[in-house]
Amino acid sequence: MPTSVVTGGAGFLGSHLCEELLNRGHRVICVDNLETGSLANIEHVRGDAFVFLPHDLTVHVDVAEDVDFVYHLASPASPIDYLRLPLQTLKVGSYGTHHALGLAKVKRARFLLASTSEVYGDPQVHPQPETYWGHVNPIGPRGVYDEAKRYAEALTMAYHRQQGVDTAIVRIFNTYGPRMRPHDGRAIPQFISQALDQKPLTVYGDGLQTRSFCYVDDLVRGLVMLAESGEHLPVNIGNPGEYTILQLAEAIIAATGSKSQIVYEALPVDDPQVRQPDITRARQLLGWSPEIELDEGLQRTLASLGKSAAVA
Ligand code: NAD
Ligand code: UDP
Repeated sequence: MPTSVVTGGAGFLGSHLCEELLNRGHRVICVDNLETGSLANIEHVRGDAFVFLPHDLTVHVDVAEDVDFVYHLASPASPIDYLRLPLQTLKVGSYGTHHALGLAKVKRARFLLASTSEVYGDPQVHPQPETYWGHVNPIGPRGVYDEAKRYAEALTMAYHRQQGVDTAIVRIFNTYGPRMRPHDGRAIPQFISQALDQKPLTVYGDGLQTRSFCYVDDLVRGLVMLAESGEHLPVNIGNPGEYTILQLAEAIIAATGSKSQIVYEALPVDDPQVRQPDITRARQLLGWSPEIELDEGLQRTLASLGKSAAVA
């Protein structure tokens, strides 16, 4: 039975990953300090093969068991979280990534860094291939997240080149699905909450900025395929379907049957204008491509909310 450590395993993506690894027969050790995650996300994945280790990863971490994979997802991820937690974001991206890589090194485990499309900043190249080096403002408010992830990528390659650690880097593009916190500030949960409450949907700027949205099941499948490959260089995982934020708001109003209107608010500082993954490498190296398009993914997300509302 392989053993996987999932840092940030009590968060949105991490909890889905823990579940998938358990389904695949792994023993899973979830390391999380619950800064932005919650025990509610992992309540239903408890079992003999699952261990929750409450721990702040900015402090050295060790586990008694042999470990085959370290999936390093711990980091605030929503803009409202990393703007609220700038130093924690830099620390978990730097010290936290050192500790997760150190664990992979002593255990001789395969390491996977959850990096982000934010390493491309407000890109001047469209769509973004992995060879594009980005256009990031280091001193703007988003710099704490973007530069922490860029540092984490540099650190991962240094551990690989100098210390021989078996590493992988995934650049995750906007991902959504069940278990996102309704008020975590990201566009999809925010618009869904507003639409269900019959409140106005708050589109920032003119709403013509674009994003590409990947359903969580597709993303998790890509993470596992990359971890199980021998690839060391970054791989984009995301859904290339590209929408303006205005189109997204309209799609959510339609999917919920809401009577909400759209209102316009100020665009946040350094909000990227375009974002779309070039997934040629994921297709060629892993045979991965997304299967769930936006309408279907929104329906699944709404269905999961309906179920929890019914249970409540
Ligand atoms: P999330 O906030 O739901 O999960 C992050 C988890 O990390 C939380 O459970 C949090 O408590 C934990 N954490 C934070 N600091 C920690 C620390 N010091 N020690 C231990 N645990 C800590 O966010 P998410 O959307 O699930 O994102 C997970 C990862 O994927 C992050 O690294 C994020 O940068 C990356 N990512 C996500 C997206 C997306 O669209 N969701 C896009 C790009 C990259
Ligand atoms: N956005 C918006 N209204 C909201 C929340 C977000 O218009 O209530 C916009 C935001 O300005 C950005 C896009 O939606 O252009 C995606 O934002 P999100 O926070 O989901 O992700 P990120 O900016 O990290 O891609």
